[in-house]
Amino acid sequence: MKCGRQVGKTTFIGGHATLHGVTNPGYGHLYVAPRGDQAKGFSRMVFDPMMRLSPILRRQIPRGKNEAWQLGTKVMRNGSYYYFKSAYHSADAIRGITVGYVYKDEMQDLVSDHQAVIDECASNWQDSRFFNSGTPKTFSNLLEMKFQRSTQAEWFIKCGHCNFWNYQDEKLIGPKGLICKRCQGDLDAKQGSWVMGNPERKDIHQGFRVTQYMNPNVMAQYWKLKEKSETYPKVQFYNEVLGLSYAEGDAVLTREDVLRACHPTRHIMPVVPAHTSGVVTAGVDYGSGNLMAKRPRGDSQRSFTVIVCGALNRHGVYEVLYLKKFKGLESDLDMQPGWISSILQNTRAKLCMADWGFGAVQNRRMINEFGWNPSRFVEVQESHGQKDFIKWNPAANRYIINRNEMFVRVIEDIKKGRIQFPTREEMEDFVTDFTSVYVELDGMRNERRYDHTFPDDTFHALGYAYLMALLDAGILSRFVIEPDSNSFY
Ligand SMILES: [Zn+2]
Repeated sequence: MKCGRQVGKTTFIGGHATLHGVTNPGYGHLYVAPRGDQAKGFSRMVFDPMMRLSPILRRQIPRGKNEAWQLGTKVMRNGSYYYFKSAYHSADAIRGITVGYVYKDEMQDLVSDHQAVIDECASNWQDSRFFNSGTPKTFSNLLEMKFQRSTQAEWFIKCGHCNFWNYQDEKLIGPKGLICKRCQGDLDAKQGSWVMGNPERKDIHQGFRVTQYMNPNVMAQYWKLKEKSETYPKVQFYNEVLGLSYAEGDAVLTREDVLRACHPTRHIMPVVPAHTSGVVTAGVDYGSGNLMAKRPRGDSQRSFTVIVCGALNRHGVYEVLYLKKFKGLESDLDMQPGWISSILQNTRAKLCMADWGFGAVQNRRMINEFGWNPSRFVEVQESHGQKDFIKWNPAANRYIINRNEMFVRVIEDIKKGRIQFPTREEMEDFVTDFTSVYVELDGMRNERRYDHTFPDDTFHALGYAYLMALLDAGILSRFVIEPDSNSFY
């Protein structure tokens, strides 16, 4: 179910889960929400009252003080059982549970790697079932991806005046109530029909979109809805009222953007000649090369170490002179410091910024073993909360950068031609590292958040190399002293 906010999806899950357990003795159920308070809230405020307030369901509650009726787990008298779990930071609490029915609530906020762990709980159950629901964000979100593979049922509203079937979008908002797109006559959201976009998926994967127009409580206070249509940003109205995904076209990179930024003839330069004008800077982002890389964001594809070198030319354009992904045998992390050191020498890189965290050990070796000057080989950590764009943290001995702002800056400068890549043929292997980046509204913080569907190591390596060049040229210093984040949005 792809829903707007406050359309009753959690209540629906409560009704479905209680009834399913009562009518299917011995059946196992798992309810998962991103946060602990959501899972507990569901158990206490939705599931429990539904059981207690029904004279029939109530008979399944064990009598007296009972171990079997807890906040996190409940067992009905007929043997049906329930787990109520959360999985925002980690899915470890869910590993090993065996159930037949998996309910995911607010699925858009669950990390994709955790979803695999959750689904695994039903892998040994014959006739297992999955119920996914949430409020969509972008087209790259897993909720939207699942919906695309479902029947994609839409509630079309039929106009009583001209018989036109109205798809539910922002155009139905009239001055005093919903109106028909064709004749502008008033519409009754109850008069309609489910229409499947993908009927051949009927027996495999059902999908429904539920909007706030379909909630009688929302429609009873139509003026509020009208106000939202006038005051909400379009992305928020799409997500929260219409249950529609929204792509912010300007904020992300397309394949065309990357190819347009490629130089027609300039090739990758493994050895950069001495007469190259600008100071060569480098960026390194470490990847483990493993399929399930243990990284904070949780890549489900292989993540590789990437190095990018480049220099600002006299027009202020950052020319990427060299890029490399350490694949196959080269994904051996022990060997990489030596290779990286040679690359830095061959490209005449004066300054290098490298990913802290996953790369901390390798970075130590670059300095202690390969003799790089710690003021020229610096580490960087990405932060979600820091207000300043970039800041040197003396205690931690590394730069802290605002992750969001780095994404905004690099994307904008690629689009505006301030960053230039080598030829298209040579960039082919790196394009998805740029196009997999997407932006969505983080509901918990109410701000933009950049994430990625495939590894984006090249994006980060380029970001570090580019920031190093801007810092060296004194272009970025004003942001260090006087951060003005608004100018980027
Ligand atoms: Zn009409």
